[in-house]
Amino acid sequence: MNRVDVLGVGIDDLTMKEAVDRALSLVLEHRCAYMVTPNPEIVMAAWDDPEVAEAIENADLVIPDGTGVMQAARILKTPLKEHLPGIDAATEILKRLAQDGGSVFLFGARPGIAERAAERMKKLFPGLKVCGTNDGYGSNDATVVSKINAAKPDFVMVCLGVPKQEKWMAKYAGKLDVGLMAGLGGTLDVFSGQVRRAPIVWQKLNLEWLYRCFAEPKRFKKIKKLPQFIFKAWRKRLGIK
Ligand code: UDP
Repeated sequence: MNRVDVLGVGIDDLTMKEAVDRALSLVLEHRCAYMVTPNPEIVMAAWDDPEVAEAIENADLVIPDGTGVMQAARILKTPLKEHLPGIDAATEILKRLAQDGGSVFLFGARPGIAERAAERMKKLFPGLKVCGTNDGYGSNDATVVSKINAAKPDFVMVCLGVPKQEKWMAKYAGKLDVGLMAGLGGTLDVFSGQVRRAPIVWQKLNLEWLYRCFAEPKRFKKIKKLPQFIFKAWRKRLGIK
């Protein structure tokens, strides 16, 4: 695997097609592999928390979700092939699973959201089996684990936010009756219709993060540290410790 170091975190340098092919082959191996979708927030969390760093390092697939990660890779003169937003990768994986009658388990978000996402996914991806849901608040791990193991899903969308989802997947990697798990943040909120994605022009301009801040002003707090991230990339490029 061609992993590129972006400020301490290895990111797989893949096109969307390559990433989805790899995801589907991990599904077939059915050894409870996991994929992570780093943005600057996770990379910075990894600087401060060795458990997060290890969770990313041990992932079977690491795709660049954040435009900040793409930008840092360019600054460091190791540009990545393609920006792969987690939600777009998940959509492609679900399309392919649907073609083969595969199954998905939706874990995370506020009560009721995963069920609504399931209804919309069944319409969007005919043939897809949504074999179970569990919200991301309040259930103990043992309950979720036994629900997942009973459902034996090909794919589990773990949507608990950063870094909870990465730690959860690292803890259960290789231990559940699952093909592939993926940490996908607020993806179920979008599939449920609760949160709208940025219009395509904003996405094309790599400004989806800004749109999300306007839609949900509490997000501005999350991106306040972004300049520090880019600054660190420049310091590294210029050889300043
Ligand atoms: N969430 C959850 N359990 C928690 C904390 C968060 O299920 O204990 C969910 C939250 O409801 C939301 C998602 O995790 O659906 C995080 O979404 P956000 O857009 O903040 O994710 P990001 O991609 O920015 O990490």
